[in-house]
Amino acid sequence: MTNRAYNFNAGPAALPVEVLRTAAEQMTDYEGAGMSIMEMSHRSKHYERLNDDTQALFRELLGIPDNYKVLFLQGGASTQFAMVPMNLLGEGKTAGYVLTGAWAVKAYKEAQLFGDTFAAATSKDSGWRRVPDVGALRLPENTAYLHVTSNETIEGVQYMEFPETGGVTLIADMSSDILSRPVDVTRFGLIYAGAQKNLGPSGVTVVIVRDDLVAESPNHLATMLRYDTHVSANSLYNTPPSFSVYIMNLVLRWIRDGGGLAAMEQRNREKTDLIYKAIDESDGLYAGHADTAYRSRMNITFRLKDEALEKAFLKESEAAGFVGLKGHRSVGGCRASTYNAVPYEACAALAEFMNDFRRRHM
Ligand SMILES: *Cc1c(COP(=O)(O)O)cnc(C)c1O
Repeated sequence: MTNRAYNFNAGPAALPVEVLRTAAEQMTDYEGAGMSIMEMSHRSKHYERLNDDTQALFRELLGIPDNYKVLFLQGGASTQFAMVPMNLLGEGKTAGYVLTGAWAVKAYKEAQLFGDTFAAATSKDSGWRRVPDVGALRLPENTAYLHVTSNETIEGVQYMEFPETGGVTLIADMSSDILSRPVDVTRFGLIYAGAQKNLGPSGVTVVIVRDDLVAESPNHLATMLRYDTHVSANSLYNTPPSFSVYIMNLVLRWIRDGGGLAAMEQRNREKTDLIYKAIDESDGLYAGHADTAYRSRMNITFRLKDEALEKAFLKESEAAGFVGLKGHRSVGGCRASTYNAVPYEACAALAEFMNDFRRRHM
């Protein structure tokens, strides 16, 4: 595998090359079974072991206490936008959403289909450049939960500290930064994440949910959309996305063997420092989108001085082997997604390219 691109895709995104090599080796014969993991029953011993082991790895990496369940579901984080209120927003209650960008707004809009909701805080006025100050939050007494988006993938804005909710259940969409840094799971009632940014391939969505919340689902809810269904069945109620879970398992092992979440955080900081430095020391050729204090360590968003230069930058960077640097179609500009699996070398190469581009175009 000599021909690996500098992959800055936002999602699906880069996977560790070591993981891909292991998967390639095991593709025709998974642990002596004479077949790949894709070709066997999800009721087999092999798969059951994989399912249990993957849960155990999550517990180990995130320090998840015993009173939480780890679920592997389908339908992406977008289905969680609905499942969260369907299961947890009971009659007579309301749900607060902190609006920090495109994904938070989507979650909020979906929840409005199912019950009473309110925008607890918003950073829209700043142009989604920061996380709103939630220190002074006053939540109504009948608040079922407060929902936050830990990292806004499109705008490149990330929580550095999560809000104090005074006992109200905190729920987080961590799709684009889960396992990028240590997190105190006990602060949350429920955490969810689609896998295709920082955990593995698309197709599996991880939900970490506290036991007491699992009991809350109303009786009329569809079987597949209830958390208790998947808790009782250990995420094997129906056929799981077995290959996605398998690759995710390999990614979790790679994180563990690479030193765990503290090591990931340190490495992500070093990687993104290189690129933010290229932005900050560019005499205005590049301008970062997020306010400095809320800069994401996963998605670096920036613009160039004018549109012609931006076009040239995207074109030249592509020719130089950098993939995925075009910003989301809704906001434009440039974005470098630097998830766990993006190597330091790729970030160093990008920073060097940016500096070189600046010298050529100033
Ligand atoms: C990508 C993303 C989603 C949507 O995920 P799907 O798996 O495509 O449904 C939701 N929230 C965040 C923060 C994301 O980055």
